[in-house]
Amino acid sequence: AQRLFEPLQQFAEKFTVIQAGFTAIERVGDILDEPIEIRDKANSRALSGFEFGYIDEIIENLDAEESNDSKIPRGEIRFEDVWFAYKDDDYVIKNLNFTIYPGEKIALVGPTGAGKSSIIRLLCRLYEPTKGRILIDGIDIRDVPQAELRRYLAVILQDGFIFAGDVKGNITLGDGYTFEEVQAAAEKTNVSEFIEQLPQGYHTQLRERGTNLSSGQKQLLAFARAAIRNPQVLVLDEATANLDVGTEALIQAALNELLIGRTAIIIAHRLSTIRNVDKIFVLKRGELVEQGSHEQLVRQDGLYATLHNLQMLGS
Ligand code: ADP
Repeated sequence: AQRLFEPLQQFAEKFTVIQAGFTAIERVGDILDEPIEIRDKANSRALSGFEFGYIDEIIENLDAEESNDSKIPRGEIRFEDVWFAYKDDDYVIKNLNFTIYPGEKIALVGPTGAGKSSIIRLLCRLYEPTKGRILIDGIDIRDVPQAELRRYLAVILQDGFIFAGDVKGNITLGDGYTFEEVQAAAEKTNVSEFIEQLPQGYHTQLRERGTNLSSGQKQLLAFARAAIRNPQVLVLDEATANLDVGTEALIQAALNELLIGRTAIIIAHRLSTIRNVDKIFVLKRGELVEQGSHEQLVRQDGLYATLHNLQMLGS
């Protein structure tokens, strides 16, 4: 069944940038084939209306009742008439319009080349739309400082990217989190038990690309890396790797925990895993051709139903 979808490895590697910030960009310089040319505008503003860096503390100090204050980032994503071409007028995203409401879980599906990764790259502002605009919580992402966009949005790759360095550093990525925060994030994402069994625990050195870890372990570490940042939006490139049953269950449980209260966009490779999302967006050659729940789309008997039937046959 997985033949329908090629792994997004190349794109995945580029994505590391989003979470890793500049130190890491230097370290992964050899895998980046394109310089990031997008710069903050002089008048870019904090999403929350507060200075970047203090949002977590402010949110923590708020009463639950007050947390719908419009100044607090909420996790709403809106694409307005978005067109995008990597070159000339060869549009790979065409007239895309949608709103993802705070807390909604959305799956992007469609054949390889349909534009799923391009949508994510635009959302992360690795590229800018040729026409139209992308808003998060009502603010054009061109007006948001990139450091804040990186915090607002966590991207989790299929095969969690690991740097040469210790476990703790792979979770903090050099940002100033305390040891307790690292432990809490690891506990929340079911990776603490594994870490504690390592010879030097959180100080154990990992190899470049995590060649001494299983893919499940890498994925759990990537979850911890996201959890510690407490992002409003999670983008998840669903793993295609076959995991053993025990790991799969740990990952599912960690993921369910991580998804609570956040907006999520899941790039789905196995249609069986996305039945419970709020809405499925079906893409074809850069256009949003169908959207709805799994049941609605199966009844509609269009592209989603076709993909679904193919996967059922293949698996
Ligand atoms: P998906 O993630 O659904 O497989 P992509 O967003 O990767 O689709 O690709 C959409 C289209 O954009 C494809 O035709 C692909 O060949 C093209 N494309 C992707 N990345 C680039 C790039 N860096 N430069 C030029 N074209 C690209």
